Amino acid sequence: MQLFEAKKRLYPQKVKGKIRNIKSILNFVFLTIFFLSPFIRFERGNGAPNQAILIDLPNSKAYFFTIEIWPQEVFYLAGILIIAAIMLFFITSLFGRVWCGYACFQTVWTDIFIALERFFQGDRNERIILDRKNSFKKIYRKSLTHISWILVSFATGFGFVCYFNDAIILSKNFLSLYSNITVFGWILGVGAMTYVMAGFAREHVCTYMCPYSRFQSAMFDENTLVISYDEKRGEPRGKHKQGDSFENRGDCIDCKQCVVVCPTGIDIRKGLQMECIACGLCIDACDNIMEKINRPKGLIRYDTEKHLTQPIPQNKFKAFRLRTFYYSLILIVTCGLLAFKLSTKSLLEIDAIPDRNPIFVTLSDGSIRNGYSIKIMNKTHDNKTFSLNIESPQEAIIKMQSYEDVNLENLPVSADSLKTFKIYVILPKNFLDENEEDRILVNLKVTDKSNLAEKKIQMVFISK
Ligand code: SF4
Ligand code: SF4
Repeated sequence: MQLFEAKKRLYPQKVKGKIRNIKSILNFVFLTIFFLSPFIRFERGNGAPNQAILIDLPNSKAYFFTIEIWPQEVFYLAGILIIAAIMLFFITSLFGRVWCGYACFQTVWTDIFIALERFFQGDRNERIILDRKNSFKKIYRKSLTHISWILVSFATGFGFVCYFNDAIILSKNFLSLYSNITVFGWILGVGAMTYVMAGFAREHVCTYMCPYSRFQSAMFDENTLVISYDEKRGEPRGKHKQGDSFENRGDCIDCKQCVVVCPTGIDIRKGLQMECIACGLCIDACDNIMEKINRPKGLIRYDTEKHLTQPIPQNKFKAFRLRTFYYSLILIVTCGLLAFKLSTKSLLEIDAIPDRNPIFVTLSDGSIRNGYSIKIMNKTHDNKTFSLNIESPQEAIIKMQSYEDVNLENLPVSADSLKTFKIYVILPKNFLDENEEDRILVNLKVTDKSNLAEKKIQMVFISK
């Protein structure tokens, strides 16, 4: 019993055309962005990293130009991922799987690997013949292909690691053959993954591994632009000889050019399929054939189900509809919220954590003492000194727990760091006698002494 279908070797044929050109330009743009982004410098001052885009794992921080994400702010990353997902849904509902066809890493890298394969081994027919029998030519050409794949994979691993290290220092170290073993391990790991995914797994990643292909149809409706074969125009299909008339037959000449150029090996004439990554190469292939046989282009094209099935075709594409309205509304609200949160992000965070053991202490004069850890997070790139004062109740007394070199008027916190100060708050007996509550709110004021900016916090004082 055969439990699964054996992998069929695909030999995608080269195709020329408008969509192929767009894809090549986009590949170039995406690769340039991927490899050069970590080298963009952005001055933050005072010892802060000057790399515009950096994920600083040792210090648990992420930098994106002016935006700095601290570990306590991972919700911003969650927000960015949510926006990316909604954006994907929105674009898919309008234009189908354009992300898969033009921008996905798997598509871009597979496209490069196929181009290298073609460069060293020739186009489809040459590759098929080459694979039939072992020869020196085969070994030689295959070896060159694999060497080029390994170089691209290694470069990809290096490009990836640059986002987690200072790219310029990393490059200099690499050129002087000095590298830390962890960095080298990551380059090899990402490189190996690229080599396997783009060199061997290819369309299987899209068909079996990527969850997006499974649920994309949930975002489609009859107005979504998808790669479509115009069955009304193409059928009945049949072979065609030069000079033959197209009367009483369809425009499809069954040349299978749309199939042989397809990187996932499917026949789009069978309708929209999960395997179709919407790369559009079958459009170019079919347009070239239509041009040769003097028929109008567009037998395979971007079209909507509604437009293709209506007896009298209406407008081809309707962008504004209820589904796209909901997606765009959610997108605007989420982007607005994230932009608001980022623009009002404070560079000073203060947290007060009460001591749990003991919760309170009764002093010899009957007053009650509570202990707290005050965490001051200085997110600026300057060393700062803060002062700590009681706002209310006025009767409260505040003391440091043990520091000898700091006092409440002089709490130093270095740039980009978090420091904890242990304090006591004491409420006198006469105040507690007048206020019988066992939970009293205490308000503290933290002042940045360099610019007198203030931040207030509220703590709960337990008296019973
Ligand atoms: S059917 Fe056409 S658009 Fe879909 S993957 Fe194949 S070539 Fe690309
Ligand atoms: S390329 Fe066009 S004409 Fe040729 S088989 Fe495909 S749909 Fe038919």
